Amino acid sequence: MKKLTLVLVLISISVNCFSQGLLQEKSNFTHQDTLRGTITPERSWWDLTYYHLDVNINPEDKFISGKTSVYYRVLKDNKELQIDLQEPMKINSVIQNGKTLAVRHDGNAHFISLKDDQEIGKVYSVDVFYEGYPKEAVRAPWDGGFSWKKDDNNKHFVATSCQGLGASVWWPNKDHMYDEVDSMLISVTNPKGLSNISNGKLRSKTENNDDTVTSHWFVNNPINNYGVNVNIGDYVHFSEVYEGEKGPLDLDYYVLSYNLEKAKEHFKDTPKMMKAFEHWFGPYPFYEDGFKLVEVPYLGMEHQSSVTYGNQYKKGYLGRDISGSGWGLKFDYIIIHEAGHEWFANNITYKDIADMWVHEGFTTYSENLFVEYYYGKQAGSEYVIGQRKGISNKRTIIGEYNVNKGGSGDMYSKGANILHTLRQLIEDDEKWRQILRGLNSVFYHQTVTTEQVENYISQQTGIDLTEFFNQYLRTTMIPTFEYEIQNGKLKYRWTNIVNNFDMPIEVTIDSKKQWLFPNSEWKTLAIKSDGIEIDKDFYVYSKEL
Ligand SMILES: [Zn+2]
Repeated sequence: MKKLTLVLVLISISVNCFSQGLLQEKSNFTHQDTLRGTITPERSWWDLTYYHLDVNINPEDKFISGKTSVYYRVLKDNKELQIDLQEPMKINSVIQNGKTLAVRHDGNAHFISLKDDQEIGKVYSVDVFYEGYPKEAVRAPWDGGFSWKKDDNNKHFVATSCQGLGASVWWPNKDHMYDEVDSMLISVTNPKGLSNISNGKLRSKTENNDDTVTSHWFVNNPINNYGVNVNIGDYVHFSEVYEGEKGPLDLDYYVLSYNLEKAKEHFKDTPKMMKAFEHWFGPYPFYEDGFKLVEVPYLGMEHQSSVTYGNQYKKGYLGRDISGSGWGLKFDYIIIHEAGHEWFANNITYKDIADMWVHEGFTTYSENLFVEYYYGKQAGSEYVIGQRKGISNKRTIIGEYNVNKGGSGDMYSKGANILHTLRQLIEDDEKWRQILRGLNSVFYHQTVTTEQVENYISQQTGIDLTEFFNQYLRTTMIPTFEYEIQNGKLKYRWTNIVNNFDMPIEVTIDSKKQWLFPNSEWKTLAIKSDGIEIDKDFYVYSKEL
């Protein structure tokens, strides 16, 4: 497991705004959702230390079989251990110290009765043998599973993706995000003539006498379950070494043989990305594992240290600028966005998918920081502001806890704009950069809650941001600056806000920029002109009465 945070939770987040502005319908959750999304007693007594996933993949039959060896440290007395594996995959047997163990099956959760004493503080392991025809991805990576595709030469092109759905869709594991394994070995056997690329670094490759090959990939850092992936194809490889903040970093690229020349040109965005993100967020978090881009038959995913790529070698998002500002066509969206997740998703990881904005909000925000790094501050602002058109404000950004339920898709564009607005309040770009870097060092290789992130930012800025985050993350209301200008007097206030929301805002009055400090009560100011201009960097609405 990742180390617990050292930051004291000093500021409590008020949750009494939950009833305000919530248009979200209460979903109906099942017993299975609870088993999947809760830190059950059968999970909480043990701490993951190591996995060896050893899997044989047969693309011809779309069949997989293998074993996960789960190593864990005992924290509390208990002898029943929960492992997850989703139907139609089947557990064949579970073995500890040579003894076959009884398993109680409850849908996708499997409760193993251990026979040996489980001494507190000691490390044990269980081998879970399994097989089956795993769920096929419907629309990878959003509705994931196995993508069994063929490349243009009719060769097998196979990849996994499983965020949200869960890694237990294809291998047995402790499928809850709070507990990350410390390191992991991934051994994949596949037909000869094809290569498998997984996370971390290739330790060895062996040829078997049944026309298959086995590759062993070692991940030297904590990794979240959905980050683990296999990618099998007719890959060719090229690489470079990037001189980064922590020294030389291997950048490895695996692409289909016929895309080599295109990739060599197009992937020049990778070292550019690394330079910008190390500047903003601090050192790449997984130097030991290197960084890879791996071509896949779907759009892409932030698989840790083996970011998968399927953006068709186009700039933008499949050739489109999602910001409409023009800046979105200056870079490959998938390279920049998915690699941004190495800091926010893979380094700092949500404990519960309800807090997924910590991944997507910060990573979408990273796109405009990339733009700013190369094209200036104005360009970055235009990019993030341009993304507002995609915000729907129909559901809250924070999802529902303990049932594996993420919040609204607004966590991307709105999340980015919340951070952009926050930066205005801090009024100190270097401090803001140090906060972004600080998040990545204080929560280095940890799983976190949104409250931890919110509190850290409040502490570092010295601004109590409780209402700010409650407003934007926990309601769908957008603060509305209501004002009236009459007889040389500006009257203004906030409406559509949670209790005690009093965010200052920058406006231009009489051709001069100045701060106003509205709250829910009317305030007045003497002015000369008959109009004011609200700084567009703030994600707010305005209404002149
Ligand atoms: Zn993302």
